[in-house]
Amino acid sequence: MNRTLLIRLSAAALFLVGAWVAYTQQGKQASNKLNKLKDDLYEIEGDGGNVAFYITNEGVILIDDKFEYDFNDIVDKVKSVTNQPIKYVLNTHHHGDHTGSNAKFLPTAEIISTLNARKNIIEGKQPGAPRVTFTTESDVFLGGKEVRMQYFGRGHTNGDAAVYFPALRVVHTGDLVAGNSPLIDYGGGGSLVEWAATLDGIMKLDFDTMIPGHGPVGKKADIMTYRNNVEKLRTRVTGLVRGGSSKDDVAKVLTTEFGWDPKGLQMTRGLDGLMVELKR
Ligand SMILES: [Zn+2]
Repeated sequence: MNRTLLIRLSAAALFLVGAWVAYTQQGKQASNKLNKLKDDLYEIEGDGGNVAFYITNEGVILIDDKFEYDFNDIVDKVKSVTNQPIKYVLNTHHHGDHTGSNAKFLPTAEIISTLNARKNIIEGKQPGAPRVTFTTESDVFLGGKEVRMQYFGRGHTNGDAAVYFPALRVVHTGDLVAGNSPLIDYGGGGSLVEWAATLDGIMKLDFDTMIPGHGPVGKKADIMTYRNNVEKLRTRVTGLVRGGSSKDDVAKVLTTEFGWDPKGLQMTRGLDGLMVELKR
């Protein structure tokens, strides 16, 4: 691919991320619901990405932290079920709807993400970059409990971590599973071609409950359904792109067959990159 075009695409995508985050935060009030999933594991669903938190007798481990305006609500919801302080915040990836409260947690908690997620946070001039990173795996052992973060490959971005709670047999997938059809953030290093293999890596873990990046909590089988949709999309669009279809033609198919909003994030962040990645 033409290098200048790649740089221009990346710049456009970064601009869109910034504009989108600014837009969605304007004058917003937190609106979230607390769900108990297992002993000592809770989920906070509503604004932005799904938050999970795990209570131990040495502190709380929080997964993702929504938007900045959700900070107080997240802290209040944790306090409603435990007096333990939030010691760790694990970021599944860099997007502002999953890392928006990072800057507010950083003075009192250690934030961990993949190295690529941190790079994307810095490049996007987002506040609250994690001080601790990893490339393949990082484990947090607190109060006799374990949480394992693993990078299985590209998909939604180039820095998505799956967060595994071995004792509870639960996985938080971040946006590797979110909505019905994938949002491929090419500006953030995403890849539709690699996405299915990344999900295959997660499927090898021993678990039954899955917390997606957005939407209701599901089962392990829901990841397989999502994986099959990812492959269906890849096969269909690869056929179009290699058959010489125009960008507009591809956009029409994405809208009619896969439910993409013509002006939505899937289209604005994914379409140009799809045309390039699937051509190869
Ligand atoms: Zn995301």
